[in-house]
Amino acid sequence: MIKRILVTGGAGFLGSHLCERLVNQGHEVTCLDNLFTSQKNNIEHLEVKPNFKFVRHDVTESYKFEIDEIYNLACPAAPGHYQYNPIKTLKTSVLGTMHALGLGKRLDARVLQASTSEVYGDPDVHPQPESYRGNVNPIGPRSCYDEGKRAAETLMFDYRRMHNSRIKVVRIFNTYGPRMHPFDGRVVSNFIRQAVAGEPLTIYGDGKQSRSFCYVDDLIDGLILAMNTPDDFTGPVNIGNPVEFTIRELAERVVRLVGGATKIELARPLPQDDPKQRCPDITLARSVLKWEPTVQLEDGLKRTIDWFRSVDMTQYRAPTPNY
Ligand code: NAD
Ligand code: UDP
Repeated sequence: MIKRILVTGGAGFLGSHLCERLVNQGHEVTCLDNLFTSQKNNIEHLEVKPNFKFVRHDVTESYKFEIDEIYNLACPAAPGHYQYNPIKTLKTSVLGTMHALGLGKRLDARVLQASTSEVYGDPDVHPQPESYRGNVNPIGPRSCYDEGKRAAETLMFDYRRMHNSRIKVVRIFNTYGPRMHPFDGRVVSNFIRQAVAGEPLTIYGDGKQSRSFCYVDDLIDGLILAMNTPDDFTGPVNIGNPVEFTIRELAERVVRLVGGATKIELARPLPQDDPKQRCPDITLARSVLKWEPTVQLEDGLKRTIDWFRSVDMTQYRAPTPNY
């Protein structure tokens, strides 16, 4: 069935891949974005399609469209981006989600919230199942994002309890791939950009902190599967790759794949509240969505490196000085 689908944050890294997939499936897709951390070249190839429309708008202001589904992705996601204007980040999470839910309520449309593994903070349970309530600092530099996303989840479930809204909460773990902003400061984009330029790779802390990295195509599969579950499935559901790597292992792998004489340096101390380990328990996604990641880190990194080599970095505007 062809649906009318709104994707907020649709010009961003994940949003542009999601729009592309939905457009290719034949849906009528509206992409809403204020282009804070993205740029039009992510969606240029879609703008020629008759079933794709871009609307420049800030989700902290309300909006109205006639749609069947909303994927709510609008929010800066890289630490340097969300810390640039933390008050705005919190508004984007909370007001943006409230506006999506308000529209969803009026139209009885499904609303999927792009939540995050950051709701678990610096976890003391490992790997993290959805039942784990997290270890989040409410007053630190990451709080605008972590607590904003937690409040957004609260709103989702309060709309469900009060209005029987059709909600899906997906907790996304670190995802990488083509169209990551080269200057977003995230670890995969930094390491690849640095290695391709022959600059030293900058490890923060001792590099023993861990993350698990999900390739973008796998993640998009998970989002679409979650949206299409029956109404009694609300999540939260973790979507991420359960294979864990230390940051040092990631750096070594990038150096090997890019080649050349790139060095790895311990560039600076670990940022405040930087989680020491993170890895999803995806038992729920496996059983309800029949989903699990299929792309190995090695393959995903190769595809991402190819993309970074293919783009002209001078065409990318760094949204903030934090990279
Ligand atoms: P991104 O920064 O590339 O995309 C976010 C998009 O939202 C951008 O296009 C940006 O311009 C837009 N945006 C930001 N504030 C806005 C506002 N006020 N109004 C309208 N648009 C606004 O980041 P991404 O990695 O694609 O993340 C997309 C979503 O997924 C985010 O909600 C993020 O929290 C979530 N997520 C991502 C990851 C990841 O590893 N990529 C992990 C967990 C959660
Ligand atoms: N990191 C690093 N070097 C960099 C960028 C990030 O060592 O150039 C570290 C960062 O401190 C964190 C991990 O890599 O421990 C993942 O950082 P990222 O910003 O990608 O995501 P998040 O911390 O939100 O998971």
